[in-house]
Amino acid sequence: MDNLKSAESIKSFLQGKDDKALFAEANRVREQVFGNEVYLRGVIEFTNFCKQNCNYCGLRAQNREISRYRITKEELLDSVKEAISHGLKTIVLQGGEDPFYTAEWFADVVSEIKRDNIAVTLSLGEQPYDALKLWRDAGADRYLIRIEEFNDSIYMNARPGHMWQERFKVLDDLRQLGYEVGSGFMVGLPGSSLDDLANSILKISKLDLHMIGIGPFIAHPQTPFYNEINGDIDLSLRTLALVRILNPYANMPSTSALESASVGARIKGMQVGCNVMMPSITPTRVKKLYNIYPGKNPKEDSIKFAIENIKQMVKDAGYDSSDSIGCSPKLKLENPV
Ligand code: SAH
Ligand code: SF4
Repeated sequence: MDNLKSAESIKSFLQGKDDKALFAEANRVREQVFGNEVYLRGVIEFTNFCKQNCNYCGLRAQNREISRYRITKEELLDSVKEAISHGLKTIVLQGGEDPFYTAEWFADVVSEIKRDNIAVTLSLGEQPYDALKLWRDAGADRYLIRIEEFNDSIYMNARPGHMWQERFKVLDDLRQLGYEVGSGFMVGLPGSSLDDLANSILKISKLDLHMIGIGPFIAHPQTPFYNEINGDIDLSLRTLALVRILNPYANMPSTSALESASVGARIKGMQVGCNVMMPSITPTRVKKLYNIYPGKNPKEDSIKFAIENIKQMVKDAGYDSSDSIGCSPKLKLENPV
């Protein structure tokens, strides 16, 4: 494989110069670090209210066509218990930025879940340092916040009134607080070129992340981007492979956005370097309403079924669902005993 340090060589692989060599190398790197194991994370999408107005997302505050929901602490903890009973060792709390929930509410939930000795990941958008600290002190292990896009003008077109540097600052706070830190971006936001994508791949790889989540942009009919073109699936798979090669130790999910863009693409994601799958453990009554993009949670299935379905998918693809807590191997390198 060529050296992937320059934007030019990355761009040539993005253009499809040699998919066979690229995918084989990404798979080799993944296998060397993670063997045949795929880590499972149960994602509970606890609210679809959001105060933000990202132009790509169906949960944006100005979307009046969506029915909104919130789940209670009891419902959340019941779902988590059930997911644990089906063998999950990491729970991800994800939602819109919903001011209804206080920082203390999350701190309580985190400490409750931590009693079961499993990992807790938060994905709650941009939050102040004090809240991040409170949650870390309550036992939260990991935090995911995607940069989304590194090109200023594309970013500002997608998130009016914001700059990606604000998210970058949150990543700094998280690092300082000792979280395992995750970020990522979307492939194919309106206006992005191959040069932008090559730049995003290089930039994300310089951040030395524990987790990297990447998926195609999917146009949502109830957003200002309703008429835009979805992120390309081949480009997304090449991006994942390149990022895997440049970040051997990062945990990388094969995202549901891949599957929404093209049926079966989540399996392909595992074959090009991803080592994490994230079944939704959102209560059945609301899971279809977590409609960030079309096809996000296509089925109103039970928690048990959602987990079993993903385990089966992993098995059919020839991998093993891991029963470990699945920290990034980077942690061991950072804290040798
Ligand atoms: N509110 C939090 C977490 C929920 S959104 C946040 O914004 O960080 C989780 C991720 O969904 C976002 O980071 C974004 O990358 C992705 N997403 C949102 N809308 C999307 C779309 N239309 N297509 C693909 N991914 C999308
Ligand atoms: Fe809210 Fe996140 Fe959607 Fe933006 S991407 S509108 S912050 S849920």
